[in-house]
Amino acid sequence: MTKASTSAPMLDLLTIPDLRAWTRDQRAAGRRIGLVPTMGALHEGHLALVDAARRRSDAVVMSVFVNPLQFGPEEDLTRYPRDLARDRLLAEGRGVDAVFAPTEAMMYPPGSSTRVVPGPAAERWEGAARPGHFTGVLTVVAKLFHLAEPDVACFGQKDFQQAVLVRQMVRDLDWPLELAVVPTVREPDGLALSSRNVYLDESGRRSALGLSAALGAAHQAWREGERNAAAIEARARGVLEKHPGLAVEYVAVVDPETLEPASRASAETIVALAGRVGRTRLIDNIILGQGLV
Ligand code: AMP
Repeated sequence: MTKASTSAPMLDLLTIPDLRAWTRDQRAAGRRIGLVPTMGALHEGHLALVDAARRRSDAVVMSVFVNPLQFGPEEDLTRYPRDLARDRLLAEGRGVDAVFAPTEAMMYPPGSSTRVVPGPAAERWEGAARPGHFTGVLTVVAKLFHLAEPDVACFGQKDFQQAVLVRQMVRDLDWPLELAVVPTVREPDGLALSSRNVYLDESGRRSALGLSAALGAAHQAWREGERNAAAIEARARGVLEKHPGLAVEYVAVVDPETLEPASRASAETIVALAGRVGRTRLIDNIILGQGLV
């Protein structure tokens, strides 16, 4: 029996028992399983995670689930873009072996109440802006890890705090899996791809460009030799001020492990931003030594 997945058509795993059976079959065939968790509305960023999973595993399962637990009451859960038919085509075209697209009732049947609560690194930045968000994220990711038993799971650097908290969960709960964090995929003009970009009109999109431009300025300061975190932050803020359509929520220069503000910058330091363009909340970040890759 060969380990490589075949060119068989992509499977639709409609239920939790379907996913468990698929996982069991892959294990029995000696295949390494790669998991790509998403909320759908796929773009090239998600597909870069698929590429990364395929490089590191023999059988790739993508989950498509708009996880209500990670949305606050004032957030965009009901209007979040959903198009499973399109997602299926894109996933299949990129070599995904199976898509798991459960309903809310399957993931959280009546009575479901246990949650995975992150440590203090969840309290700042996105966690401060979105109370309960990371408890929702870790709970759904933990369930997916149990169901798919991945050897490797792929997450985007775009959601750097999520990636850090998932890494901490994997370590703290002794999950035997590898995490791959994939660089952010951007439009040619620098805008980070996001499912929420569809909410932007033309002028909103111009405002949104302030995020990547500010990160570019922070990187430029670093390249010029600036190591003072406050000065790097100021360079980013200077660019953001030129984009009045963008309401800045935070500009953070942080340690990549603790997510506490840094005073001195190193190549691994993260510069992260969040802002609103109208009702649309956008985030972006860079690893300082890498810039807008
Ligand atoms: P989402 O569907 O927004 O929950 O994202 C699913 C996964 O895709 C997460 O691990 C994100 O970090 C990742 N992701 C989202 N946007 C990008 C992007 N532009 N580049 C790379 N990964 C991304």
